Amino acid sequence: MVYKIGSISGDGIGPEIVAEARKVMDHAVAKYGHSLEYTDILMGGCSIDATGVPLTNEAIEQAIEVDAVIMGSIGGNPATSPWYQLPPDKRPEAGLLKLRKSLRLFANLRPAHLYPELRGACPLRDDIIGEGFDIMMVRELTGGLYFGKRETKPVNGVNTAIDTLSYNENEIRRVAEKAFYIAGKRRKKVTVVDKANVLDSSRLWRKVVTSVHEKYQNIELEFMLVDNAAMQLVRDPGQFDVILTENMFGDILSDEAAMIMGSLGTMPSASLNETKFGLFEPSGGSAPDIAGKGIADPIGTISSASMLLRYSLGLDKAADDIDGAIKKTLADGYRTFDLMPKEAAEKKGLKQVGTSEMGDAIVERL
Ligand code: NAD
Repeated sequence: MVYKIGSISGDGIGPEIVAEARKVMDHAVAKYGHSLEYTDILMGGCSIDATGVPLTNEAIEQAIEVDAVIMGSIGGNPATSPWYQLPPDKRPEAGLLKLRKSLRLFANLRPAHLYPELRGACPLRDDIIGEGFDIMMVRELTGGLYFGKRETKPVNGVNTAIDTLSYNENEIRRVAEKAFYIAGKRRKKVTVVDKANVLDSSRLWRKVVTSVHEKYQNIELEFMLVDNAAMQLVRDPGQFDVILTENMFGDILSDEAAMIMGSLGTMPSASLNETKFGLFEPSGGSAPDIAGKGIADPIGTISSASMLLRYSLGLDKAADDIDGAIKKTLADGYRTFDLMPKEAAEKKGLKQVGTSEMGDAIVERL
């Protein structure tokens, strides 16, 4: 079968890591007699340069017509890039927010598990890592502070910025359903992270999630304040199975979870709506500091490609093959620079490779 895949390379390291993900996906599906037909879609800074806006209506139409989208990352260095001289709604990130909204991608999944081979790259102490960890972060993606009304205006003569955090019960219910469904296929525990001691929105989250939970009595439900959750992630990450949280808390905690995996470059993500369609991208950004050097870690994007095959195309075997090939490549000692241990002794037997060499090594092991 031929599947239609949208491909958003984006900015910075985006084109380098997407090329590797496409290479690996193509090989993985070919083994089962399938092929992928790509449509390149412009988004982010490259779209601003080509069209004047970060996302055109044509690009949205292109994304709607495909089965799933693989993406790199968008944006530049906010301190130096001319894209950040533009009004906020014309900047690269506005394109991604608009795409998520247009495609109704309300649930963002970020699996954070420690590859045993990457123990050395994990910044946590050995006794904290214990048997390792395997967390699925489910972040609400189209509501909350990032989508609320905002303005900056003088109030009583003092320049004042106002951002609005709002959630309605339907937005909470649909993402809670996804989290319980996923937990049912895993270790059957959902931890809701919020700030219910302060925020009304968090109190509504607790009420709605508790009512959704009535249908999922085989799943353990607990609530945790976000400040405590930030601490628990580095104190005892093994306690978590599924973490369900709102947009901004999820944004911050998922980077923390990525870091304890070893590197931002290793963590995949999937953004889903109520159909099988999804947008799949690594958790990191466009990494302008290393763009164009051929050294970026492509594993997060390749792992996102595996999630694409599993969640959007239903090609579980091909996805398993990719996951297995990544593990084997790491076990065979291949590392991009971000995964190399600091200590010389621990580097023994490891081979530092660039972006495309890592992609090739994974393809060889498929
Ligand atoms: P970043 O994630 O791009 O980089 C943070 C650090 O992680 C950097 O040191 C970078 O080199 C490293 N890193 C990230 N991905 C890596 C990889 N694959 N391999 C090796 N190292 C990697 O975050 P930032 O520097 O805060 O943001 C840079 C730009 O990316 C900004 O414009 C930001 O808005 C954008 N951004 C985009 C997305 C997205 O496209 N979804 C997400 C986050 C940030």
